[in-house]
Amino acid sequence: MVLKTEGEIGLMDEANGIVHSVLNMISERLAPGVTTKELDREAEDLIRGFGAAPGFLNYRGFPATLCTALNDVIVHGIPNEKPLKDGDILGIDCGVLYKGYYGDAARTYAVGRVDERSARLMEATKKSLELAVRQVKPGGRLSDIGHAVQSFIEDQGYSVVREFVGHGVGLALHEEPQIPNYGKPGKGPRLKPGMVLAIEPMVNEGGPAVRMDSDGWTARTADGSLSAHFEYSVAVTRAGPKILGISAAQ
Ligand code: MG
Ligand code: MG
Repeated sequence: MVLKTEGEIGLMDEANGIVHSVLNMISERLAPGVTTKELDREAEDLIRGFGAAPGFLNYRGFPATLCTALNDVIVHGIPNEKPLKDGDILGIDCGVLYKGYYGDAARTYAVGRVDERSARLMEATKKSLELAVRQVKPGGRLSDIGHAVQSFIEDQGYSVVREFVGHGVGLALHEEPQIPNYGKPGKGPRLKPGMVLAIEPMVNEGGPAVRMDSDGWTARTADGSLSAHFEYSVAVTRAGPKILGISAAQ
């Protein structure tokens, strides 16, 4: 596992600040009738305007700046020309490369007015990420993160996806360790200052099973139920968790 210096964590805070600036821009632009392709173009322009590069574009052949996840899509959907509709929920995952370091974060948004069920799913997924972040402290165990997500989410009557996991992040988009959103507490490596972890619960309203589209990227719920996704890149510091990019965002 790669440990980062304070200087490197400062650069990663800037990289994630660009990501959160994109996510903030999207919350202002999002409305029924807008297309994910338009959001993707604006995100790319904003990222390049900061002197950064899109982190996902061409990553293993991914064709866009944003991963867009509409309704039953869990992660890795490809932006398209279809207008968004009132009542949709839309996950946006954004990565950037800035001064050699990756930023990575995601949010799920309501398009227009959503029903109570959709709002509750998004709220619970965000809450599970906040509970997971509280486990990020020196001496804590890696599996405490996934355990915090799974125990809260299953109490709410939802399920966590197994096929996709959180990850270390830094000079590479995906570094060791993998961070599942499930598991027993008290296992795995101890957390140390200098680790940077991308924690990203993916929560389904129905069962956990995943079905892949023929594009080879888009992952959906097998039962067609809704899915939500939130992600922060979090540094382990002596003082506890530091969510990167939040205070640096515009
Ligand atoms: Mg991400
Ligand atoms: Mg990630």
